[in-house]
Amino acid sequence: MDGIKAEITGEVFDGKKAEAMVKDLTASFKAGKTKPYEWRVSQLEGIVRMIMERETKIMEALQSDLAKPNMEVYLHEISLSKAACMFALKELKNWMQPEKVPSLIATFSSTAQIIPEPLGIVLVISAWNYPFALITDPLIGAVAAGNAVVLKPSEVAPSTAAFFAKFLPQYVDSSFIKVVEGAVPETTALLDQKWDKIFYTGSGKVGRIVMAAAAKHLTPVALELGGKCPVVFDSDVNLKVAVKRMAVGKWGCNNGQACIAPDYIITTKSFAPKLVDALKSTLEEFYGEDPLESADLSRIVSFSHFKRLTELLDEENIPEKIVYGGERDEKHLKIAPTVLLDVPCDSLIMKDEIFGPLLPIITVEKLEDSFELINSRPKPLVAYLFSKNKKLEEEFVQNVSAGGILINDAALHFTNPHLPFGGVGDSGIGAYHGKFSFDAFSHKKAVLSRGYATEMRIRARYPPYTYHKQILLRRIIDGSFIALFLGLFGLHRD
Ligand code: NAD
Repeated sequence: MDGIKAEITGEVFDGKKAEAMVKDLTASFKAGKTKPYEWRVSQLEGIVRMIMERETKIMEALQSDLAKPNMEVYLHEISLSKAACMFALKELKNWMQPEKVPSLIATFSSTAQIIPEPLGIVLVISAWNYPFALITDPLIGAVAAGNAVVLKPSEVAPSTAAFFAKFLPQYVDSSFIKVVEGAVPETTALLDQKWDKIFYTGSGKVGRIVMAAAAKHLTPVALELGGKCPVVFDSDVNLKVAVKRMAVGKWGCNNGQACIAPDYIITTKSFAPKLVDALKSTLEEFYGEDPLESADLSRIVSFSHFKRLTELLDEENIPEKIVYGGERDEKHLKIAPTVLLDVPCDSLIMKDEIFGPLLPIITVEKLEDSFELINSRPKPLVAYLFSKNKKLEEEFVQNVSAGGILINDAALHFTNPHLPFGGVGDSGIGAYHGKFSFDAFSHKKAVLSRGYATEMRIRARYPPYTYHKQILLRRIIDGSFIALFLGLFGLHRD
């Protein structure tokens, strides 16, 4: 794919190029071409056409980047992106409508409304794990809101980045939607520019770099980050179904390389052995006796991530905690689904987000103890609970702080465009999906408009300020109808 990159971009993308690109986009944006409904619709339709006509190429790119099974590419990248685009096409007219809000008596007569307007030139920087959807999803919000966009796909998924650079310009208005391939130097060159918004998906470490760069220009940011997503597992569930749902949300999402993948399980000491048995039989049913050979599991994206994950498994005293899996194949960057029981809370595997096929189980005396354990750590992107106990569910929703909460399933909340998707605290800033995407890329302009026909005669607001004017205004503000009447008809003392 390096060849494709060279063929497309031709030369190095540096600070000068970034500056020129932003300058051009700013000048074109000011002409207003991206604002009309028709322009926005034509871009969204172009994205849908690209998805439909280039499905095979998308699958090839993801096979090359991650050995991602076609089924997962279709479900998580293609169909979700297409659905998001169709939803935006269906709702766009409504989203663009000014929202009328009440006027106050003090501003009688006037109209008040909130008008969404595009922010301007926005930068989207994305991660490698869902390299197609994580570019397409914010792009949909950005163009629906009428912005010009620069997209910076992840260099860690170079085939998908090359796909966007090659094919996207064939379907959208490339004078307003640009793709920049590249790694840290190119992203740094882009971050040095002044943007109207930066939408970043990736790690918290780079999120801090992005936010610091944005602060120099007072640029607002959305940071879609990760974290350790906990799963609290009760013993009263339909075990077979619950484990299947949890397992597909972990290993069926890029072999655990997903921001919303279950990161660790908390369950009771007494229930843990049963849960481990159910996990073993489910994983065998899903991926056979030799999961390293299964075509239904993505590979680890790069050697450095492979090394990072195997170091978690090889830490002192951790190998004996493995109750299932643990196999690896360095040549093909594959790691089998691996379950570990009773790992210490201060082990490496419990420190940072795992982002891979390893699943530790922590045991507690009673499930309520899990709330404190979760809340004592950085706030996760999602917290999962598997339980039939409605009281526990209520307590979980009330007491656990996370970007989102999902009960009795894993990852599915991501698919509902009526729910905001985003983190809180260490797992991110801002949310998107559906109308939340449109809002993330819009400024809500407050517009109050007064006429002259019904000009009030409340001269009291004008200087010179006198004692009687102050009394009258205080009474009007406190809601005195008589004071308002006197003011309106100019019957008050100055
Ligand atoms: P990554 O390495 O692909 O980096 C993300 C982007 O940041 C890339 O485009 C990269 O070029 C750029 N980048 C990397 N280092 C940089 C630097 N020093 N300066 C400027 N730019 C730089 O992805 P990653 O960070 O490994 O992604 C994995 C993380 O993303 C995980 O923590 C995961 O949870 C999170 N994630 C979050 C979501 C979400 O929607 N909340 C989705 C996917 C992934």
